[in-house]
Amino acid sequence: MDERKILIVEDETKIAQSLKKGLTENGYYIELAYDGAIGKRLFLSHSFDLIILDINLPEINGYELCRQIRSHNQHIPIIMLTALNTTEDKIEGFDVGADDYLSKPFEFKELLVRLRALLKRTINQQLPSGNILKVADLEMNLDSKEVKRHNIKINLTAKEFQLLEYFMRNRNRVVSRADIAVSVWDIDFDTQTNVIDVYVNYLRNKIDKNFSTKLIHTQVGMGYILKEVY
Ligand code: CA
Repeated sequence: MDERKILIVEDETKIAQSLKKGLTENGYYIELAYDGAIGKRLFLSHSFDLIILDINLPEINGYELCRQIRSHNQHIPIIMLTALNTTEDKIEGFDVGADDYLSKPFEFKELLVRLRALLKRTINQQLPSGNILKVADLEMNLDSKEVKRHNIKINLTAKEFQLLEYFMRNRNRVVSRADIAVSVWDIDFDTQTNVIDVYVNYLRNKIDKNFSTKLIHTQVGMGYILKEVY
């Protein structure tokens, strides 16, 4: 099986480093973020299988980051870590979309057991549907990198593919040029460049131009949205 990728967002370096060490020894690939803003950026620019999220964090706290992650991805397992240990805190954690909750101090073994259970669950969920994103008659196979519209094969460049994948993962949701810049280009949005608009036009020419139903729409002053309009 492929190495599973885990994002750890934890500002206490000792805990973060020891988690990284323990999980690496157990065969996981780890990215570390020491504050919520870096955590968010890593989440948007990489693909992870699971996120371990502290609550008291600089920049963006764990609850808020969890909420933001859920607005992009409903399925990625999130385990929250915290020194806070009241029922209200746990309820808030689950309210913003966490799957599990561990109070510090915790046994590494316990984290490992819960993490394995969550990863197993997501593997089982993904099996039936395969690795295919679908919006209307547009289909994207993330394994074979094939894109089809109305069963007609469409050839995309690697960058166009990444951009379309981002649109499809965020279907029915307005994404700003800044979101696209960080997620697809891994850069901060620079107002001097129109590279995003240029690429959106390339994509439109390939996936929309020859079809009567358009999927990529401009939201003036806000960005773009991929959706089927009836
Ligand atoms: Ca903390």
